[in-house]
Amino acid sequence: MNHVFAIPAFTDNYIWCIHDTQFACIVDPGDAQPVIRALEEKKLTLTSILITHHHYDHTGGIDALIEAYPDITIYGPTNPKISAVQNRLSQGDLVSIQQPQIELSILETPGHTMDHIVFYNDDLLFCGDTLFSAGCGRMFEGTPDVFYQSLQKLAQLPDKTKVYCTHEYTLANLAFAAHVDNNNVELQKYTDWAEKQRKQNQITLPSSIQTQKMINPFLRCNNSSIKQNIEEIMNLSTQSEVEVFAALRQCKDNF
Ligand SMILES: [Zn+2]
Repeated sequence: MNHVFAIPAFTDNYIWCIHDTQFACIVDPGDAQPVIRALEEKKLTLTSILITHHHYDHTGGIDALIEAYPDITIYGPTNPKISAVQNRLSQGDLVSIQQPQIELSILETPGHTMDHIVFYNDDLLFCGDTLFSAGCGRMFEGTPDVFYQSLQKLAQLPDKTKVYCTHEYTLANLAFAAHVDNNNVELQKYTDWAEKQRKQNQITLPSSIQTQKMINPFLRCNNSSIKQNIEEIMNLSTQSEVEVFAALRQCKDNF
């Protein structure tokens, strides 16, 4: 049986650690020092690293971790820019790790970056910077069309899937969500919970696909009230869910 915990890094990153009390696999190590500290404290041996995309705050710790643990295997996108990746993964691939024992499938989710992939199985999803609680990543490299399709892939995962995002952006995202989805009772309830968590210095992750479908405006582009609100705020009209998504993303960038 595996456990998952967050290693905080920088100001608001989470580096997720999957372990079986002996061996560990980590996701998106932007910084090596907090990872090494956490592994030593819990007496865990690192065997593998999963990388979702090329940004430095997700990859910057790889080299130092290879130095500390020379036998580790590194899984990640096909982007050659992430030179340390040994097992390059595309849509539909399966990662099978023995220690800790875990199998994860790959979805390609371009949008935040074009090389972005996510790792998932029946229980959990490591979604990098594609999906955040109540939000989504900035659209640095993709177009609204490809990013929206990527988010729809995640929305189709089972409701119970636990969602492990890589940043604590929840409260800021909720402020924007309330701006465009002001009559959503579930959103208000979740906001009360998240504010309480943060006041007690607790993290707001993982979330679930079910919760995200209820509160995340970027997964609710088919909602008529969100459509109407964003059209009024941005002073435009939208003809499709992709256009609603594009307007939401643009509005959030300047919120
Ligand atoms: Zn990123």
